Amino acid sequence: MATCNECKTEFDVDEAREAVNAEYAGDIDYDEEMEGEVCGDCSISRFDSDINLGRAIQMMNGDEDYDEDHVEKYL
Ligand SMILES: [Zn+2]
Repeated sequence: MATCNECKTEFDVDEAREAVNAEYAGDIDYDEEMEGEVCGDCSISRFDSDINLGRAIQMMNGDEDYDEDHVEKYL
């Protein structure tokens, strides 16, 4: 077992990897991003906030349709 460096609970790295693969259909490489140090739940919430922040920045740059609610919430 590994201990999550965010929520400090013990977790199974294989399960965390599977959870991330299922959530993002393999688009995000759990091992590369988290190196087995973050549990599935924390990984997903961190990836989600990164993705939402990235989209908010693209909206500010005009690369994506502007959504004021999204920008206010995530930027
Ligand atoms: Zn965690």
